[in-house]
Amino acid sequence: MENKQSQKADPESTNTISFAPVVPIPDYLTGQVQSKLAYVDESILSAEVESDQIHLHLDASRLTPQVQSHLEEKVQRVVESMAKGAFKPKVQVLEDYMDREVPYTQDPMPELYSRNEVNQEDDGIYTLGPLLTKIIDYFESLFIDLADSFEADPYRFPTLIPAKELEKVNYFRAFPHSLSFVTHLREDLDVIDNFAQHAACDEHGLNAPDGSFDQVQSLLSPAVCYHLYFALADKPLPGGQVTATAVGKCFRYEAINLTSLERLWDFTMREVIFVGSKDFVLQNREIARQRMEKAFERIGLAYRVESANDPFFIGEFRKQAAFQSAFQLKYEIRASLPFKASTLAVGSYNYHQDFFGRHLNMTLPDGSPAHTGCVAFGLERIAYAFLAQYGFNKSNWPSEVQEVIK
Ligand code: AMP
Ligand code: ZN
Repeated sequence: MENKQSQKADPESTNTISFAPVVPIPDYLTGQVQSKLAYVDESILSAEVESDQIHLHLDASRLTPQVQSHLEEKVQRVVESMAKGAFKPKVQVLEDYMDREVPYTQDPMPELYSRNEVNQEDDGIYTLGPLLTKIIDYFESLFIDLADSFEADPYRFPTLIPAKELEKVNYFRAFPHSLSFVTHLREDLDVIDNFAQHAACDEHGLNAPDGSFDQVQSLLSPAVCYHLYFALADKPLPGGQVTATAVGKCFRYEAINLTSLERLWDFTMREVIFVGSKDFVLQNREIARQRMEKAFERIGLAYRVESANDPFFIGEFRKQAAFQSAFQLKYEIRASLPFKASTLAVGSYNYHQDFFGRHLNMTLPDGSPAHTGCVAFGLERIAYAFLAQYGFNKSNWPSEVQEVIK
């Protein structure tokens, strides 16, 4: 997890410690354990996880003796919870076009900065310029074509999501680390006056008088499809099945993992959502995958589609990830990033079984809980992956993209 904060940190104020994990970490889990170490302690600037060694780069100014003694124990807790007794998921590859030849091999970020195509407002928060916007609009048109091919009904969903709804779908237990809370000042003239006079930012953020903020009722939405399920809750499904599409802002706090356009706090997702019987959802998820396979072929994207799991938090990880894997609930579209010889998830094909149907009381005509699934694309990521493969010289771009983006 190389990151901005570690690059900013003064080398004299950083400390590196290394130690062996309490149980060996299998290779297929090192990345997932490493990403969770971002949430272990505020003194961690970056971490590297190998099977038999963990290296932590720490902010010395935050490292009190108390913190240090507790730190290793907390890291081992993560390792134990995620790695002990874990079994290797069978990775199922549905499509493999990683060997498609693409013309570009550089990291697109420096070029994006020099062209003023990105402005980083803060960690994980970016403004995107005209080129990125046009590429996103182009990919959006492909995803909207997909939605149209299913005659999906268009929806617009809020950016805020009520805490009481997220609670119903167990979100606090599964993904507490990535939540983004929203509040407001208490409705009290003294509180508001006091805030207006004393609120001030320092390098760590906003300082406000104690007791300024109201209890959290709302969060920033971490996904798009949940809003459809809330709208369909507590009643029989209209017509027995629903196909919908929407684009929306999503928020996932990813701590020091927030790097470049690869991992954002504030990003945009287009989803096509299926609600109905098990067969209806699974068949349409598969048809969507096959239609996107053709679209990606037209533009020569290098990628593969393989089984995956959601980034559940530590305590839930082993059980939930194994469950998703066993029931083939999630497949990711992983685009090649040639400059770092790795891949980035630009979309996913998901099946939630009757989880939302049960928790939100969405029912089929026979009274049983509805099944749900969604196809979700990350718009910033797909534009970034496209530039990482095709670069900035438009004459190298696939002809279909050249025709649309002048
Ligand atoms: P998921 O629901 O987790 O499968 O997310 C759907 C898609 O959203 C992913 O395949 C990514 O393309 C995108 N996405 C998820 N998290 C982030 C993030 N932190 N930053 C940017 N894009 C993201
Ligand atoms: Zn979804």
